[in-house]
Amino acid sequence: MITVSEALEILAGACAPLPAERIPLREAFGRTLAGDIRSDVDWPPFDTSAMDGYAVRVSDVPVPGATVAERAGVVEAGRSPGPALRPGECVRVMTGAPLPEGTEAVVPVEDVRREGGSVIPAVAPRAGEHVRRRGESVSAGTSLLARGRRLGPADVALAALAGAEPVAVHHRPRISIAVTGNELVPASARPGDAQLRDSNGPMLAALCLSGGWPSTSRPAVADEESAVARLFASAGENEDALITSGGVSAGDFDLLPAAARRAGFEILFHGVAVRPGKPIAFGRRGATLWFGLPGNPVSTSVCFHVFVRAALDHLEGADPAGPVRFSARLASGLRLRGRRETYRDARLDVLDGENRVTLIESRGSHDLAAHARANALVRVPAETHELAAGSVVDCLRL
Ligand code: AMP
Ligand code: MG
Repeated sequence: MITVSEALEILAGACAPLPAERIPLREAFGRTLAGDIRSDVDWPPFDTSAMDGYAVRVSDVPVPGATVAERAGVVEAGRSPGPALRPGECVRVMTGAPLPEGTEAVVPVEDVRREGGSVIPAVAPRAGEHVRRRGESVSAGTSLLARGRRLGPADVALAALAGAEPVAVHHRPRISIAVTGNELVPASARPGDAQLRDSNGPMLAALCLSGGWPSTSRPAVADEESAVARLFASAGENEDALITSGGVSAGDFDLLPAAARRAGFEILFHGVAVRPGKPIAFGRRGATLWFGLPGNPVSTSVCFHVFVRAALDHLEGADPAGPVRFSARLASGLRLRGRRETYRDARLDVLDGENRVTLIESRGSHDLAAHARANALVRVPAETHELAAGSVVDCLRL
């Protein structure tokens, strides 16, 4: 059986970024850049005032109470600053206005008295005070955002500043979700004898959305050869990635891996040394990917976070790929028997500026109630038999 890191390598190799498209910046939040963005302008684009006030030379206001002659007129935002400041002269400027050449500081309007044609600052400004210099934040030609960046709101603003409108981003993967199992009824129904409600379908849609990916639901699939064969025959018509739940372990009705193979999928792995989630399968037919997640709800969720998230990120060209990882101190110790890499439900708190994780008591991979209380997973490396309280562990954010 392969390890988690081997599985992640296989996924990275099989999930090439989808092609690029150009979209309006106002729709670009959460999308990943298909190319670097360089600025074609300086930012600020000219020397500008940070305050409503008076543009001065500092040598003209050596002490509070000095008198400076006021030039007629006001420099507004969006207007030319007029001629250079002459010695002994100041000019009224508004926030965001370009500053006349020779300006060394701006004295805020609150800090001056006006008398006749003169301005009397109550403070002696330091050079550069309330002045924003051209290019001090961004100089033209520099790279602002790298390809693979998932755009946050401030990134969108930076892209706009650089003129990247429309912006080139990778296509989002088209995802469909199919749950399998004769025991399932929809969440809207009351389960009969030996039935249970499908929780994985809604959860997988939510997990996809948490990564920014809309998905579509396929009809639930019965544990019958013909139904499973139909699912794989049509895979790829409307999706880049098909995510299934159930039917991949070793039971008599776990039909999916064999059916996928018969339908022409190459199975790139089936079985990973991970707990929970060992039976996970991954296959590919042409450009269509299949993620076969085990049906136990906590396994489904853990497999999505650990494997599918990373794969979908790769498909979207995102760098870094996969869930946010961090380290934290264990609040209490634990003993394990497993040899597999293990993910445990945990609660992350920040105490005295330090990440602390507390393991959540769980009855197993069906214990959705425990899982829903978790906001993190603690990763326990393979072959770990004991972790002491206070030890530092790798975690993954849910
Ligand atoms: P399987 O992986 O198909 O063997 O399913 C393992 C366990 O997960 C079984 O107890 C199923 O009843 C449960 N299960 C499978 N699919 C779902 C689902 N969509 N929602 C909730 N539980 C499920
Ligand atoms: Mg099943």
